Amino acid sequence: MTDYKPHEECGVFGIYSPEKVSLLTSMFYGLYALQHRGQESVGISVSDGDKVLTHKALGMMNEHFRETASEVLPDAYAAIGHLRYSTTGGDDLANAQPVTVRHLGRSFSVAHNGNLTNTQELRRGFELTGSVFQSTTDTEVIGHIITGERIGAENITEAVSHAMGRIQGAYSLVVLSGRELVAARDPNGFRPLCYGKTEDGKYVVASEDCALAAVGAKKVREIDPGEVVTFSPEGVVFNRTRCNRNKSSICIFEYIYFARSDSVIGDCPVHKARLRAGAFLAKSSPVEADVVVGVPDSGLDAAVGYSNESKIPYGIGFIKNKYIGRTFIAPDQSERENMVRIKLNPLAATVKDKRVVLIDDSIVRGTTGKRMVSMLREAGAKEVHVRISSPPFMHPCYFGVDIDSENSLIANGHTVQEIADMLGADSLAFLEIKYLPYLISEKGDAGCCSACFDGKYPVKVTPGSKTRFE
Ligand code: SF4
Repeated sequence: MTDYKPHEECGVFGIYSPEKVSLLTSMFYGLYALQHRGQESVGISVSDGDKVLTHKALGMMNEHFRETASEVLPDAYAAIGHLRYSTTGGDDLANAQPVTVRHLGRSFSVAHNGNLTNTQELRRGFELTGSVFQSTTDTEVIGHIITGERIGAENITEAVSHAMGRIQGAYSLVVLSGRELVAARDPNGFRPLCYGKTEDGKYVVASEDCALAAVGAKKVREIDPGEVVTFSPEGVVFNRTRCNRNKSSICIFEYIYFARSDSVIGDCPVHKARLRAGAFLAKSSPVEADVVVGVPDSGLDAAVGYSNESKIPYGIGFIKNKYIGRTFIAPDQSERENMVRIKLNPLAATVKDKRVVLIDDSIVRGTTGKRMVSMLREAGAKEVHVRISSPPFMHPCYFGVDIDSENSLIANGHTVQEIADMLGADSLAFLEIKYLPYLISEKGDAGCCSACFDGKYPVKVTPGSKTRFE
């Protein structure tokens, strides 16, 4: 088995400018800030007020993409960008976003973070009436629906709002047309989406507010679940006809793992949610130990939280090799299994002859955890107690996260003690499900999706519907 973590399936970013200017530098900075949300492909669309032009490439934001995008994308009134992580078809440029549609002399571009739960049904309907698809993404399905709705709609905002009545599941969208930038979020608010404003009057939309900061924009607020916000020469217009009066179902795993620690989603800083997860773990699963260490980078905040609550000193347990990215290709399977050792090195000065608490954000297959435990022992740790700042994964996600198939999840079919034995740990404990709502609000009343842990899906899902068109 190779190293494995759940993957986010995308980040979106957009800018509206009252004047026609080059928006590329800001687009690059914004997308760099969201790189953690997708590394398989990157794309930018710009609108000069008349036509929409798009440039896409496989791989991450890098110098080469900046150069090629700068050659083909002109000054513009608005732009949207996308970063993709793919569950399938990762090396296919056809699946990169934004998706640009030209129809009846008009054009628009759409980028999407999330996953529709009725993609198959919608796509089948289009195919049976002769529509042709270029990719396997649900974003292209969204493009077809907006196109159809645009025919009878007064403007792109109305078309997007009508389209939202037909698509189901998780989506945070940015849509570009003429001089309009439209941002929309599904009525459950599974994926984050916020907007801000720069001092020179540009509006910026992003999956996370760390990207607003990257371009000097001040956050105005989150886009509410079900809300459509349009930025255009007429100003900022809010359409709330599809807003959900129930609690939001923001993905709790955004706080535990996906989002950047310096982002704030809703009213809750991600860093604070992770500190709380660590503190709850310390309360519910204490252990006598000498030092608390975290798995870089996603386990570090929870490790600090565990240390603060337990009063066991925090230490740096691993040094990360920053220069090995996703592009590193190990020559064979046995080498791939050693990827963790290549990426991380234990710090003997912290762990030698100590009883160590090792904090990680999640366990999917257990491969990473097993390596981490054995590395700490080789570095001289006397005991290794693993604490996980999320509950065990038990169910698939239908809302935009690639969690692995149910039968690959280590927690399915194994007790906690069995998993501890497989990891080679002296003890193991997970965060209890009951604490999840309290990660993001002190009263535990904010509302969140935790379906991959408890199986309680906030909207109807069809088992097996996660399969994509290939
Ligand atoms: Fe997030 Fe899990 Fe819900 Fe998917 S099922 S949206 S990963 S909490």
